[in-house]
Order: sequence, then structure tokens, then C-alpha cells
Amino acid sequence: MSASMDTTANNQILILGGGFTGLFAALHLSSLDCPLPITLIDRETRFVFKPLLYELLSNETQVDVTWPRYEELLTHRGVAYVLGSIQAIDLHNRQVQLDSGLSYGYRYLVVALGDTAGYFNVSGADEHTFTFRTAQDALELGKHLRQNLQKALQAEDSTEKDELLTTAIVGAGPSGVELSGTLADLLPHWYEKLGGDPEDIRVVLIQRGEEILGKGVSDRIRETAEKALGNRRARIDILTQSSVKEVKPGSLVYLNDEQEHYLDAETIVWTAGSSTHPLVQSLPIADEHSDRRQRPHTTSTLQLIDFPNVFAGGDCAVNIEDPQPATAQVAYQQGKTIAYNIKALIDEEELEPASVNLRGYLMKLGVEESVAEILGKVRISGHAGHLIRHATYLSLMPTPARNMKLGAEWLADEVLDQVLNV
Ligand SMILES: Cc1cc2nc3c(=O)[nH]c(=O)nc-3n(C[C@H](O)[C@H](O)[C@H](O)COP(=O)(O)OP(=O)(O)OC[C@H]3O[C@@H](n4cnc5c(N)ncnc54)[C@H](O)[C@@H]3O)c2cc1C
Repeated sequence: MSASMDTTANNQILILGGGFTGLFAALHLSSLDCPLPITLIDRETRFVFKPLLYELLSNETQVDVTWPRYEELLTHRGVAYVLGSIQAIDLHNRQVQLDSGLSYGYRYLVVALGDTAGYFNVSGADEHTFTFRTAQDALELGKHLRQNLQKALQAEDSTEKDELLTTAIVGAGPSGVELSGTLADLLPHWYEKLGGDPEDIRVVLIQRGEEILGKGVSDRIRETAEKALGNRRARIDILTQSSVKEVKPGSLVYLNDEQEHYLDAETIVWTAGSSTHPLVQSLPIADEHSDRRQRPHTTSTLQLIDFPNVFAGGDCAVNIEDPQPATAQVAYQQGKTIAYNIKALIDEEELEPASVNLRGYLMKLGVEESVAEILGKVRISGHAGHLIRHATYLSLMPTPARNMKLGAEWLADEVLDQVLNV
């Protein structure tokens, strides 16, 4: 943090959460030569580019690229970074409290805290499953899986060995599908390197609905994903219409066709749901100004309805004029709008409504294999899809200091030109 910045001042812009919304709001504000001090608070030391979280497991991308330090990203941008866990937000008195006991005032506030895992009251799910939402999650899961492979090599009992080599992923939304495909390529590779038989690895993908990926994707993407999951190095068993009822250490119970079934798996990953961040739920928002998940509505300019000096975006809020899916693609663009609108308020100019430009859909389906659907028209899969996904994400990654690219679109014009003119 720069010594000259007073991060406790009441005349500052305070950004809560340095994910896609918060970090990009900060970077854009800084590029707009904002006259007020800007402070970003996050409980982590590094920004995680979540669409590339699988790469932290697979090492397909360098760790420093997927997971850069806030200090490096922000120091030369005139943004003060505070490491701390936010405990309370008092919108009436314009104060934010951290677990360290420190509090921070503000003139403008950006609430960008994302969301948390949701367990639908399934008994044991919180305690006995891994989540896959943060870099820490990815590293812990990787360590646990590697230890299990080692243990499997030494296991004398074949049932115990099967359990150690079985990974269950609950929820076949985009992250469940991406993780299954990645693990079904990675685990056999890791196991073989240890001297194990890759054929023994099993991945089970459990979905409550009738098909994988739900309604958010086109049938063509779903078909491509199903085909790709069938072609991984390890077998992926996809159990649809299967609802997990209970999780215990090393096993789970699910209902299928009203019958109870048991699955033994030493690794169970929960990607099935999300829940509104508790701090966001605690905001003093009238019932009519929040949705049924207690996410606050914002105006089209991304301001809270009763607190026009407070902006909210990304997974933790809903633009009531133009609701969007909870994706990085949306959060990234909303961060930019928030920055422009705060600057407009300072300059007493007119605010702009948020407009989100969804140019395409990118999904990882295995190691070095992805699908890219562009403008709903062109679909490219396999290794070519991987190259498009990778190039797109790398072009969006914030890099330290001067060579920061802020004009980038989620799918760059050059990519669109090349692909659409083939
Ligand atoms: C595995 C995975 C893969 C994904 N893949 C894609 C994809 O391919 N394409 C896509 O568009 N979207 C993808 N998403 C969704 C996307 O990452 C989210 O929609 C996006 O990150 C939301 O941005 P956000 O700014 O709202 O929240 P986040 O990016 O989650 O940021 C919230 C920030 O708040 C901080 N924070 C939270 N609580 C506190 C606290 N109490 N104190 C201090 N700091 C706090 C967190 O540390 C975090 O940095 C993926 C998500 C996951 C988990």
C-alpha cells in the first residue's frame, strides 16, 4: 500500500472484493484518472481467474498467470490494497468493519463479494465434500487426490483401493462438467506416473436433472460435451435424475427413481449450487428490492435502489432491468460500468446503463480440449477449441502495472474475425 494513501478516509471509493467485478472496477477507475482515493479489500492475497481454476490442478498454465498477486496488479495503479476479511457492512453509517477490528469509511462503495457454495440442506454435504471455487480449493483438492493415488498403490484390500480411486462430482453444471473432464484426463496420467494402472480410475458425475449442463447452454454444446466426456482417459459414469440425499466421510446416498443408492468415493466434490454471500444477505435491503435468494436488485446503472452511492455487481446482485447469468463474463463487464458510473457521479455527469455483450461460450472438456461457441453460430471443439479458450482468457488476464490491457472483449475481435471468416 502506498504510504501517502489514507485508506480510512470517508471521502474514498471502497471496493469490497477483488474478483471479476471488484478488480476490474478498480483498474478501470484508475485508468479514468479518478480524483478520489481508491481502496480494494479482499481476504486473499491473489486474484483468481476462476475460469482457469482447473489449470491450477493440471499445470496447463503458469500459476503466476492464473493467480497473480493483488499487490503486483495494483501498486502502480494508484489503488490501495487491504488484505482482510470483511465482517460487517453498515450502509446507513457508511462504515465497513474487518476481522482485524479496523473499519473503513467511504463516499462510494462497490459491493462485489461474489457468492458462496449452496448445499440445499443436504446432510453432511458441507462437512464432507470439497468445493471448487477458490485457488485454495484447487490446491487442497489436488493434494488430497495425489495422496489418495499413493494410498491406492499400497492398499491391500480391493474395495478400499476402488474407493480411493473413485472421485464423485455432485452437480453437472458447467463447473461439474469441466472438472470431470479435467480429472478424467489428469488422474490416470498421475496414477500411471506412480506405477498404477490408469484403467482403475473412476469419475462419477451426479446430476439431479435429466441431462448435463441444464438450460443455460445450447443442445449443440451439450452434445459436444457429452461426446467429449465419453472420450476421456478414465471412464466417467454420468448419473442423471439422481439427487444426493446425504454425504458421509467417503460415501454418499442418492435417490434415483425413488430408490436409494450408495456410492463409495474417497473424494466427493460439490459443484451443485451457490448461495448468496452472508454479508450481502445482511444488507438492509427491503424485501421488494431483492430476489428470492436475497440478492439485492440494482438499477440499470448498477446502484442499490435505496443507496445510490453504493454499487453492486457480479454474482452478488441482480440488475433488475437486465438480469444476467452469474458468470465472469458478466461480472467483468459490470466492473467496467461501475467504474464509469462512479466517475460520472463525481463529475456530475449522466450515468450509463449497464449493457452486457455476450459474444460466446467457452468450456473446458478435458486437458487441452475445449469447446467454443461463438455468437451462437460457430462451434469449435477439441484442441482448436482449447486454443481459442486459452488465448481468450490470457488476453483478459490483468498483468502487473503498465502493460495492463483494459479494452479487451471476452472474445477478442481478432478471434471472431479469424473464426467467422474461415
Ligand atoms: C470453477 C469455476 C469456473 C468458472 N468458469 C467460468 C467460465 O468459464 N466463464 C464464466 O463466465 N464464468 C465462470 N465462472 C463463474 C465466474 O467465475 C463468476 O461468475 C465470477 O467470478 C463472479 O465475479 P464476482 O466479482 O461477482 O465474484 P468473485 O470473482 O467470486 O469475487 C469475489 C471476491 O470477494 C472476496 N471476498 C468474499 N468474501 C469476502 C470477505 N468476507 N472479505 C474479503 N473479501 C471477500 C473473494 O476473495 C473474491 O476475491 C466459474 C466459476 C468457478 C467457481
